[in-house]
Amino acid sequence: IKTNQIQNITLLGATGSIGLSTLDVVARHPERFRIFALTCHSKVEELVKLAVIHQPRHLVTSSEAHYSELQKYAEQAGLNCEVHCGIEALCAVSSAPDVNTVMAAIVGAAGLLPTFSAVTSGKKVLLANKESLVMSGKLFMDAVAEHNATLLPVDSEHNAIFQCLPEQGYCERQIRKILLTGSGGPFLKHDISTFTDITPEQACKHPNWSMGQKISVDSATMMNKGLEFIEACHLFHVSGDNIDVVIHPQSIVHSMVQYSDGSVLAQMGQPDMRTPIAHTLSWPERIESGVASLDFSQLVDLQFLKPDFERFPCLQLAIECASQGQAATTALNAANEIAVAAFLDRKIRYTDIFKVCQQTVEQGLGDKVESLDDIIACDANSRKIAAEILESI
Ligand code: NAD
Ligand code: MG
Repeated sequence: IKTNQIQNITLLGATGSIGLSTLDVVARHPERFRIFALTCHSKVEELVKLAVIHQPRHLVTSSEAHYSELQKYAEQAGLNCEVHCGIEALCAVSSAPDVNTVMAAIVGAAGLLPTFSAVTSGKKVLLANKESLVMSGKLFMDAVAEHNATLLPVDSEHNAIFQCLPEQGYCERQIRKILLTGSGGPFLKHDISTFTDITPEQACKHPNWSMGQKISVDSATMMNKGLEFIEACHLFHVSGDNIDVVIHPQSIVHSMVQYSDGSVLAQMGQPDMRTPIAHTLSWPERIESGVASLDFSQLVDLQFLKPDFERFPCLQLAIECASQGQAATTALNAANEIAVAAFLDRKIRYTDIFKVCQQTVEQGLGDKVESLDDIIACDANSRKIAAEILESI
């Protein structure tokens, strides 16, 4: 992309937390960015409100059940754009020739096919939807290389690591460790003996970040850090041995790279996703994001601790899955989505999330997963196993 060329953007998951932060940054730079398509699942009225401001050429709801509602609101608002529904439409706006950049900000496995569609059409792909990479790993990275796509990590830790790595990427000889930081979430100091009583409201109240419900629960169990561990292995082409998880409750350092000479490079900033979003939107340049500067006179007591696997068994499970390969990580991701949804519906306890994930991974292990079809089958099979385990709880 030439810097003087306007970037046409498809924003998958526009109504979510990452979607709204992306539109906030985009609106600051009308000379650089134009919205080609906005998509959502069910919040079609909100989608239309966003469309009135950003004037996209296409609106998509992934849900056929919300299609007529979306058409109605779009018409009432007098929008001059095409309205679509379903997975084919999501893939079409991700691969359209007029699009340069796709922000992949759908939550969960639902983002896999549209994100893949952006990759295989060689787009600049800004990846927030970590689940799609966790569930397809090598296949995803091979597709990026084969189709000459540009993959930029939006997840704050991976964005930090990307910024701290040498330009040519991870280099075994030069680097001792990637240090993946995580806040430890709301239960870092919570009494473990009361974990069975944790409610969805408590789990969704993150001390530093405001995020969608699913990733908030993942942050509470630290499954999020586990998924990020797997994400980092694929993104930076390293094995789990090259990554250490470091608890950093203040979320000021967003991750680090430790070099062979003893240097440690860290990326720091406010816990505000507009920073990594702006970085990926403008890379290799830098643009204003609206995020306040860090005030070093106010930064007291930055702490760094070792993770406690007894407190966060989901993190340990994910790290184990990372070394077991694709079937394990696809199953883990699927089971986690089922378990988190059940926890949010108050059907299982907080501590059951780990049980469902562990047992699903154990049962699912023989699956062969090499193609996209294999991955989709493994995901579906793992969801079935997880749902059966749920019933038995
Ligand atoms: P969110 O729940 O706020 O938003 C999710 C978006 O996905 C919404 O626009 C929703 O309409 C859409 N969506 C939901 N189900 C869908 C389906 N079945 N098909 C198509 N679209 C669907 O989530 P979020 O917090 O914005 O997170 C989005 C992604 O970014 C997740 O993968 C998350 O892990 C990742 N991420 C988020 C943050 C954060 O700070 N929020 C940070 C790092 C990574
Ligand atoms: Mg993150």
